[in-house]
Amino acid sequence: MTEPAPRMNVESFNLDHRTVAAPYLRIADRKELPGGDVLTKFDVRFTQPNLSHLDSETVHSLEHLMAELLRDHTADVLDVSPMGCRTGFYVLLFGDHTAEGFAPVLEAGLRDLLEAAEVPAANEVQCGWGAHHSLEGAQRAAREFLAQRDQWEQVTAG
Ligand SMILES: [Zn+2]
Repeated sequence: MTEPAPRMNVESFNLDHRTVAAPYLRIADRKELPGGDVLTKFDVRFTQPNLSHLDSETVHSLEHLMAELLRDHTADVLDVSPMGCRTGFYVLLFGDHTAEGFAPVLEAGLRDLLEAAEVPAANEVQCGWGAHHSLEGAQRAAREFLAQRDQWEQVTAG
């Protein structure tokens, strides 16, 4: 028997990434603030951990597009951040959200993304690496993610 790994501070460090089946949508964290308000953080996983990842330009453009377009569908988005492993994103929302409730919002934003003619704020004034973008890559990744919409809420294999 192997000892269970010590509990770590970061929720996703306690997730066995070998057991997940991307793409998926899962709640990574839920925090109740002292005033009673709630924050919900989603793990939006595009590619299978340790088997594949998104190109850096694709991640960057997905970040810009999702950050802009998701806000057309909900006022609750606080942050959209790429994972350093480039397999997905964290989306932080104000309020108490379920995966079932957020999935249609994510879907609507990604469908808008497929129609986008350009990456928003992909320039040296509004971005830290304005040349490092791929609209085509972002749309390809979103199309693949949307094609597996019926699997988003199945987080683990089997
Ligand atoms: Zn940028």
